[in-house]
Amino acid sequence: MYTEDQFLAISGLSQLAFCERRCALIHLEQIWTENHFTAEGRVLHERVHSSESETRGDVRTVRGLPLHSKRLGLVGFADVVEFHRDENATLILPKQKGAWKVYPVEYKHGKKKKNNSDIVQLCAQALCLEEMLDAEIAEGAMFYGKTRSRMKVVFDKKLRNETELLALRFHQLMKNGETPPPKPGYYCQSCSLVEDCMPQLSGKASLYINAMIDQSAASMSTTD
Ligand code: SF4
Repeated sequence: MYTEDQFLAISGLSQLAFCERRCALIHLEQIWTENHFTAEGRVLHERVHSSESETRGDVRTVRGLPLHSKRLGLVGFADVVEFHRDENATLILPKQKGAWKVYPVEYKHGKKKKNNSDIVQLCAQALCLEEMLDAEIAEGAMFYGKTRSRMKVVFDKKLRNETELLALRFHQLMKNGETPPPKPGYYCQSCSLVEDCMPQLSGKASLYINAMIDQSAASMSTTD
C-alpha cells in the first residue's frame, strides 16, 4: 500500500506506455511543451470537465471525478464515469433508487492508437474506482474526438496485469530518478517534447554532446 505522498498521476501510465523517456521528461524533469495534439486534448478535457453531472433515464453521468488507488499508488481524475442502473449490480448510490453498474469513459482528441497507451489509462481509472467503490467493473469506453466514435474496452486479466506492471514501473522510474535515453520511433512525430528530447541525437552523437557538456562544466568549475 502506498501513502498519499507517494501517489503518482494516472495519466503518467499513458505516457509511460507511449515512451518511457517522455514519461520521465514530464514527471521527473517537469518539462512540458504543448503542440497542437496536446492543445486539442487539453481543450477537449476542459470542455468535458466543465459540464454538469446529470441523470438521463437509467444512466447517471458524473464528470471530473477525483480518483485514487492506495494499492497502485495512483491519483487523478476520470473524465466521465457513467452509472448504469442494473438490477444485477451491487452498487448503491446515495439518493438514487436501485443498483448501479460503473462504466468509466476517457476522452481523447485524436483517433484510436496503435499502442495501448490510452486504454491502460482507462483501465487504471477502473482499478481506482473498484478500490474506492468496492465494485467490480467489467468494461468502459474510449471516446475519440477526431472520429467522434466510442470504443468499448473490456478490462480483462491481460489488460489489468499490463496496467499494474506499468504502475510498478512508473514508481521504479521515479524512485531511480534517471531519464532513459531516447528510443526514436514513428511515435516521435506526434510527441510534443521532440525539441526537448532531441531523439535524432540518440546513440553516439548524444554521448559525444553529453561528454562535451560534462567537460565544459568541469573546466568552468576549475577556473572559478
Ligand atoms: S521525441 Fe520520441 S524518444 Fe523523445 S520523448 Fe518523444 S517519443 Fe520519446
